[in-house]
Amino acid sequence: MSILQQEIKFLSGVGPKRAELLNKELNIYSFEDLLYYFPYKYIDRSKFYKISELNPNLPYVQLKGKIVGFETIGGGRKKRLVAFFSDGTGTIELLWFKGLSYIQKSLLLNTEYIVFGKPGYFSGKYNIIHPEIENALKTQDVISAKLQAFYNTTEKLKKSFLHSKAVSKLMNNLLIILKDKIKETLPDYLLKKYNLISLEDALFNIHFPQNADLLKKAIYRLKFEELFYIQLNILQKRSYRIHKSTGFVFSKVGDFLNRFYENNLPFELTDAQKRVLKEIRKDIGSGRQMNRLLQGDVGSGKTLVAVMSMLIALDNGYQACIMVPTEILANQHFDTLKEFLNGLPVSVDLLTGSTKTAARKEIHENLLNGELQILIGTHALIEDTVKFKNLGLVVIDEQHRFGVAQRAKLWKKNHQPPHILVMTATPIPRTLAMTIYGDLDVSVIDELPPGRKPIQTIHLYDSRRLRMFGFLKQQIEKGRQIYIVYPLIKESEKMDYKDLEDGYESISRAFSPPKFAVSVVHGKMKPVEKDAAMNLFVKGQTHIMVATTVIEVGVDVPNASVMVIESAERFGLSQLHQLRGRVGRGADQSYCVLMTSYKLSNEARKRIDIMTKTNDGFEISEADLKLRGPGDVEGTQQSGIAFDLKIANLAQDGQLIQYVRDIAESILDNDPDLKNTDNYILASQLKKISNKKVDFSVIS
Ligand code: ADP
Ligand code: MG
Repeated sequence: MSILQQEIKFLSGVGPKRAELLNKELNIYSFEDLLYYFPYKYIDRSKFYKISELNPNLPYVQLKGKIVGFETIGGGRKKRLVAFFSDGTGTIELLWFKGLSYIQKSLLLNTEYIVFGKPGYFSGKYNIIHPEIENALKTQDVISAKLQAFYNTTEKLKKSFLHSKAVSKLMNNLLIILKDKIKETLPDYLLKKYNLISLEDALFNIHFPQNADLLKKAIYRLKFEELFYIQLNILQKRSYRIHKSTGFVFSKVGDFLNRFYENNLPFELTDAQKRVLKEIRKDIGSGRQMNRLLQGDVGSGKTLVAVMSMLIALDNGYQACIMVPTEILANQHFDTLKEFLNGLPVSVDLLTGSTKTAARKEIHENLLNGELQILIGTHALIEDTVKFKNLGLVVIDEQHRFGVAQRAKLWKKNHQPPHILVMTATPIPRTLAMTIYGDLDVSVIDELPPGRKPIQTIHLYDSRRLRMFGFLKQQIEKGRQIYIVYPLIKESEKMDYKDLEDGYESISRAFSPPKFAVSVVHGKMKPVEKDAAMNLFVKGQTHIMVATTVIEVGVDVPNASVMVIESAERFGLSQLHQLRGRVGRGADQSYCVLMTSYKLSNEARKRIDIMTKTNDGFEISEADLKLRGPGDVEGTQQSGIAFDLKIANLAQDGQLIQYVRDIAESILDNDPDLKNTDNYILASQLKKISNKKVDFSVIS
């Protein structure tokens, strides 16, 4: 066993109790886990301030001096210890509220100390509350550093005195043991070619930077390595899938597709739809398994592409299914499909959480005996009881709502994996897609069906609501329908956002029968009630749909031309864009009205500005990535990848991702199985990584 695999409890300074805390709180089990627990910031500890130089705006300061006296003030819970600390230029108060007797016992008068903390200023005096304080003679760790690393720790850890400084001490102990024992993880030729410092130097300097330049080089080397192996892993899997794996061959186009095309297709396909279908046909006819991501903005007509792809599966004797994230969407897809396929001898059914037992049993049987050809459903599809006779194609709509594990289950429903088409309306920035969906082939529908007018987006403050109502009335008089969306169902005490119930009341007053009809849909309603309300709106029997975000995904009512989003500052960019995509589906001019209060944070204001400036989903997703960072961008949460990265940052390191991907690609081009002696290290690292980590490349 390598020393890195040693249990953390064996490190000097840890022991069983602290080990348990480190396990639980920081997921640190081994020496290696600790070694890769990187600091979140650094502070220059080479500088000492003079007390006479202090001013209340300084962040952290380091002082050197002596304690000239103690005083205990107050009693009971308010008891505190003051140490008067002087460096010859002035005096400052060091204050403790906890652990007083222990601290007082451990500190000596007239001994030189180094004090570190954030200075405060109170009634004419400077103070530092709960400073770090150390005997100046003893402070020199065996490993000295110019910049002090700071580690995140938790409340529980701090209670056991495992604060940042203590973690740093453990790191110090660890690095002493590991001296000369850290094996390089990148081949020498890469280090040389790309100017990378050794792993040992990098790990040493990331924890104890000898200077700012070495810290920079350490960070770069570690990011490079982290991103490089992700790409190497993905690209190698991709190359295996393309060159070695087999998939069902859908060799022909038959009656199902032909009859659909001649009799049922209600409109001309857009050029983009045609192109994407060609790409899909090439995949599914090639003998290798398709794993394709179809990106297309809301309303770009992805459903039709899915339908036609499924008909090709049927033409070749296979079954197909569509998995969607919500019940409303499943219902709507079911209706859409029945309408699209009207008159064709295709059996389609719907399976959701609310499918009754008897119906469910029948579906199970018909799937197994092959009588059922297309199944539409929610998560209910991935239950083990759902078994197909010969599932050939799986379509996953609005993929970001499904987790990796859920998708993997669907994948395993056959002895041989079916072809996979993942559809998303949340465009993912390119660099992110390269990492999260690096193994997928990507198709893009970059064109909306003809005759669509760009949606006009308007920002209004709440005080203009009456005016907005007037506008809605005009639209309804023109025959249009309207969505009004709220972030919350019930008023919450902490936030004074307009909530749906309040809103519904005032809307009902302003839009009262017989002239106007309003429906409501929210997450707390029973599915039957939701469907009933939704249906009234779909059929045009109600003019206004008041809803929470349950309508966000996929709902299609072409006659709806206005989307009002209440408390729009509460929503993220991709959510706003999704919601806006509910309108603009017909030929009429559509509008999106973003209602907000006057008080807007900078970020919220930026989001609203972007929304009013562009309708382009890709532009919006790039902006989103910049504003929020990758952990919050939809799609990354479920994949888990943003959280698994130790040092690289998908939002900031886009350039580096592209760079290392190109490097990985050219290595694999020359040595696909990594068999060259030079690449031995790469092969063994890759093996180690894929044993340990979630496999990001198999997304479905
Ligand atoms: P999304 O990509 O958001 O899933 P949909 O598939 O729901 O979009 O399509 C949006 C609307 O556009 C639907 O009403 C659909 O019938 C219509 N549509 C799709 N393709 C075309 C086309 N080529 N021409 C005209 N309308 C189309
Ligand atoms: Mg859709």
